[in-house]
Amino acid sequence: MQSKVLSHLSACLKPKGFQSNTPSIWSLGKRLYSSGEEADLVVIGAGPGGYVAAIKAAQLGMKTVCIEKNDTLGGTCLNVGCIPSKALLNNSHYYHMAHSGDLAKRGIKTGEVSLDLDALMQQKVNAVKALTGGIGMLFKNNKVTHIQGHGKITSPNEVTALKKDGSTEKVKTKNILIATGSEVTPFPGIEIDEESIVSSTGALSLKQVPNKLVLIGAGVIGLELGSVWSRLGAEVTAVEFLSSIGGVGIDGEVSKNFQKILAKQKINFKLGTKVTGASKSGGNIKVAVENVKDPSKKEELDCDVLLVCVGRRPYTANLGLEEMGIERDEKGRVPVNSRFQTVVPNIFAIGDCIHGPMLAHKAEDEGIVCVEGIAGGAVHIDYNCVPSVIYTHPEVGWVGRTEEDLKKDGIEYNVGKFPFAANSRAKTNNDTEGFVKVLADKKTDRVLGVHIIGPGAGEMINEAVLAMEYGASSEDVARVCHAHPTCSEALREAHLAAYFGKAIHFS
Ligand SMILES: Cc1cc2nc3c(=O)[nH]c(=O)nc-3n(C[C@H](O)[C@H](O)[C@H](O)COP(=O)(O)OP(=O)(O)OC[C@H]3O[C@@H](n4cnc5c(N)ncnc54)[C@H](O)[C@@H]3O)c2cc1C
Repeated sequence: MQSKVLSHLSACLKPKGFQSNTPSIWSLGKRLYSSGEEADLVVIGAGPGGYVAAIKAAQLGMKTVCIEKNDTLGGTCLNVGCIPSKALLNNSHYYHMAHSGDLAKRGIKTGEVSLDLDALMQQKVNAVKALTGGIGMLFKNNKVTHIQGHGKITSPNEVTALKKDGSTEKVKTKNILIATGSEVTPFPGIEIDEESIVSSTGALSLKQVPNKLVLIGAGVIGLELGSVWSRLGAEVTAVEFLSSIGGVGIDGEVSKNFQKILAKQKINFKLGTKVTGASKSGGNIKVAVENVKDPSKKEELDCDVLLVCVGRRPYTANLGLEEMGIERDEKGRVPVNSRFQTVVPNIFAIGDCIHGPMLAHKAEDEGIVCVEGIAGGAVHIDYNCVPSVIYTHPEVGWVGRTEEDLKKDGIEYNVGKFPFAANSRAKTNNDTEGFVKVLADKKTDRVLGVHIIGPGAGEMINEAVLAMEYGASSEDVARVCHAHPTCSEALREAHLAAYFGKAIHFS
């Protein structure tokens, strides 16, 4: 197997065709920026893209400043995204296991189970606090200077932080990295009050369990938050314009199975359905919907909470882009080249505010390779190897191409499938819904896509990502020894089925 690490490092040490603004800093060790001097890099935004980039830059020896407008570090992901949603998903799952009698069936008798929503929310707050506070410590330990304020690019070599008290601080810098992330996309005609008509942010902090919750958009975030409130007792209806659930990039077969599983969990779906408006009267909200194909089929759905989850859009307000001549594309994203440079060569951009999937790990990876590039290194990300996960129960995880993609591109492929019902660990845990599906090139056996719906799919998918990053064949993965009993054995067996046509424990 070719050593990616060695080839990457040698490329980093011998940059070709790129003039770095910060030469030779690989060897300098950590340097601290002092007020008034010139920084090597100013990062605007301390989400997973920005804060990781800042730490990496400081580790590479750059004098690094990170400007964040919010009171806490960590951006959308840590404050109102990945972390609080996963805290609620985890604990609502435990509640559901206890409340639905699942624990009792396992021989664990609890007596009457009741929900303490305040305590559940407090655990979420504690997790967020610990993790956002941790970034402050990492900044300190790595000698990243943190400035609280709204960062505005005031020249290609200067960022001005507008602070809450009205004062400003100007930072001269060789390079600027825009990592300003994204914000909730509003739904035309529906005003979000974050009390009863909520975005994902409000849905993370409802004060009581809704009786009826309607969610607009059965994508990743909508389904995760819908699952939380359904488990806690709300009657949930998901309205989706498309005819399938799970958002962009999900394999069609997985999506269908996922919908069946969630329907069994009592989430109602109205697919191919468009929301045309919503009106509030007292504690009741009426949501007007119509069939996408036949608009004469109209309906009104009643609920006490309406969750608007139709996506996110890049956030670049008052950043000074216009003044720098940096135009946004039709989706409001900052256009960058393969080194993450904007049209101004020493101004870079990464994460949710540029092209590509809006995911924390994608933003982090871009942050790391972008600053390595600024330091003169190679810059490469294979976006086909960026995994996606939906953290419901069961989880859904995927990487690479779907069957639909391969058919569309006329690529011949083998399919290897293995159900968790035939996996010893899943059976032992009485958690057998779902399957693993591997798509491998018919001629070369190279793994082209892996799709998992099942227990721990979010952890398991990383093995598939590793295999795909290194160009593995399905036989390569099938020949790797996997610990027994683990759910990952299902992943191995699906790879075996892809290259050999047969798994061991399922026929
Ligand atoms: C409910 C929810 C759940 C999610 N779950 C997941 C998940 O499980 N896994 C996953 O990978 N992704 C998830 N995401 C998406 C993930 O949060 C984003 O993809 C990720 O946070 C993007 O990182 P970023 O650094 O590009 O931007 P952000 O995290 O949005 O950070 C940008 C930061 O820049 C700051 N900023 C903006 N403008 C300025 C300025 N001018 N000056 C100073 N500061 C500024 C903002 O205050 C913010 O802190 C979820 C999102 C939501 C909403």
